[in-house]
Amino acid sequence: MTTAKKRVVFCDFDGTITVNDNIIAIIRHFNPAGWEPIAQDVIAERKSIRQGVGELFALLPASMRDEVIRFATSQAIIRSGFEQFVHFCREESIELYVTSGGIDFFVYPLLKPFGIPSDRIYCNGSDFSGDTVRITWPHECSEPCNNDCGMCKTTIVRRFPPEQYERIVVGDSVTDFAAAKLVEFVYARSHLIEKCEQLHIPHAPFDTFHDIIGHIKQNG
Ligand SMILES: [Mg+2]
Ligand SMILES: [Zn+2]
Repeated sequence: MTTAKKRVVFCDFDGTITVNDNIIAIIRHFNPAGWEPIAQDVIAERKSIRQGVGELFALLPASMRDEVIRFATSQAIIRSGFEQFVHFCREESIELYVTSGGIDFFVYPLLKPFGIPSDRIYCNGSDFSGDTVRITWPHECSEPCNNDCGMCKTTIVRRFPPEQYERIVVGDSVTDFAAAKLVEFVYARSHLIEKCEQLHIPHAPFDTFHDIIGHIKQNG
């Protein structure tokens, strides 16, 4: 007896659901002294993503809370077809999880119009009660991941065993590499395309979420 595997999608947020990276946009806009070397250290992998993102936000005074939230939520552009993709997943009984290295104060408000249950949205937290913005990490790495991800995508993906699930990653960049290596199929943009090619990971490039819907329909 064979049982069909349940399809599950792990979708990145920054640069995937939104056109641009929101963390970079926020830091560039408010331009606090000292952010550039921290960003360079993260890109060069001298600092973990968790450490770098924590240090970047610690440069912003917590008193700027409303301004930061207003800027973050007003500048973001949702990628074309995302709303249709959420509906498509619902109709096809595909479980859709948002696995984001972004921060709660912009991830939740920007996703609100799409009606994704909050227990299917994973992102980092924030605390504005001190002098500066403190990022909190409710979904840190667990064994065997020791990348100090902050929001650990592989830890979440591992909860879905390949014996029961057909797992799909949708993403664009560095934070998606490790999860892409674990799953059965990847929809990739930007740097993630090259990574999938290098590592021979089964993948299809996409530009909009309409492309992904079309590809799934075509391939069953
Ligand atoms: Mg991304
Ligand atoms: Zn991790």
